[in-house]
Amino acid sequence: MAVINTDTIVIGAGPVGLFQAFQLGLLSLNTHVIDALPEAGGQCVALYPDKPIYDVPGVPVCTGRELAQLLLAQARPFLPRDDASGQITNLHLNDQVASVQPRADGGFDVATRQGLQFHCRAVFVAAGAGAFVPRTLNLAALEGAANLHYHLPEAPATIPWAGQHLVIAGGGEEALSAVAALLDVPANASPVAITLLHRRDQFQAEPALEAQVRAWIVQGRIKLALGVPSGADIQDGRVTALHILGADGVTQALHLDHLLVRLGLSPKLGPLVDWGFRLDRKQVSVSPDSFQSSATGIYAVGDINTYPGKKRLLLCGFHEATLAAHHALAQLKPDQPQHLQYTTTSALLHQRLGVAS
Ligand SMILES: Cc1cc2nc3c(=O)[nH]c(=O)nc-3n(C[C@H](O)[C@H](O)[C@H](O)COP(=O)(O)OP(=O)(O)OC[C@H]3O[C@@H](n4cnc5c(N)ncnc54)[C@H](O)[C@@H]3O)c2cc1C
Repeated sequence: MAVINTDTIVIGAGPVGLFQAFQLGLLSLNTHVIDALPEAGGQCVALYPDKPIYDVPGVPVCTGRELAQLLLAQARPFLPRDDASGQITNLHLNDQVASVQPRADGGFDVATRQGLQFHCRAVFVAAGAGAFVPRTLNLAALEGAANLHYHLPEAPATIPWAGQHLVIAGGGEEALSAVAALLDVPANASPVAITLLHRRDQFQAEPALEAQVRAWIVQGRIKLALGVPSGADIQDGRVTALHILGADGVTQALHLDHLLVRLGLSPKLGPLVDWGFRLDRKQVSVSPDSFQSSATGIYAVGDINTYPGKKRLLLCGFHEATLAAHHALAQLKPDQPQHLQYTTTSALLHQRLGVAS
């Protein structure tokens, strides 16, 4: 795969990473953004998509998902969509940054798990509490099974389990909302049967959602299987059955065509600890005037950083991203004018934003 040359890399497409991309774009520093999740928005989308946020300046109230959409819309001049695919060309989702290596010329080689490679001149770590990765069933046999899934496809047309038996593992909001979403897809994309698998007959979800799912179980629209998965049958790289250990001590086979594990996400700092900057209790230590880490050219913004007085708030992350971008500009393009320009009045910023002056 060809190496991508770019001024900057932003690790994490959470709210702060998205705003970082916007600030870098305003300063004419191009960027690529990478996130482990299939959707941009970080915690706002992964942990509280429908909950209201009341303390973003100028936005009296919006949900987590709405904030992510607003940030994407704001950053659009610098995170453009491909006309044909509709995909953002410099936003790489479902991928995790695996290594950041300093280069002799002062830049960095950045590599991802999916094999992307970048040469860049500055790195912005906007990694929150780490890469959000799905919790697993902890069964080694399942690793790499082709019909094991953790995420719902974005479009019904790409649902791989249409017309087949799908087992959804989990008893929390993520699992129950997946049941609701899948009972709502067009008939041609719908599974022929859904079994909800949970270790006990007790769910942890919004009361209305739980009541709805329990009604579907009573009506026979979905089946409920109770017990702990203790093993799996694998054939030709696919899981064909889970071994379920019941409360009575009996193990039974639960046959399936596809397995969707919805046990929530857990943040993993992962390879970040080896990237050569100073960490203070799993946070990146930064200087509060530049948000640069102890490694020159690597910045850390948002929930991942720490400095005296740090507050893990969106507003603070946005401030950090702004100052970090200005500091990087001074380092990377010292010949470019560094004076502050306003988006209201600057013809240059209007040009970069693609708006009329
Ligand atoms: C329930 C809840 C309610 C909240 N309410 C508010 C509120 O009302 N007001 C407020 O100001 N704040 C609130 N917060 C805090 C706010 O959500 C965080 O401060 C904010 O999300 C931090 O943004 P971030 O971009 O730094 O990190 P995150 O949102 O955590 O995003 C980091 C992203 O980086 C990705 N990532 C990490 N490592 C890698 C890697 N190696 N490779 C690729 N991707 C990686 C992760 O997958 C993730 O998507 C709330 C938090 C929670 C949990």
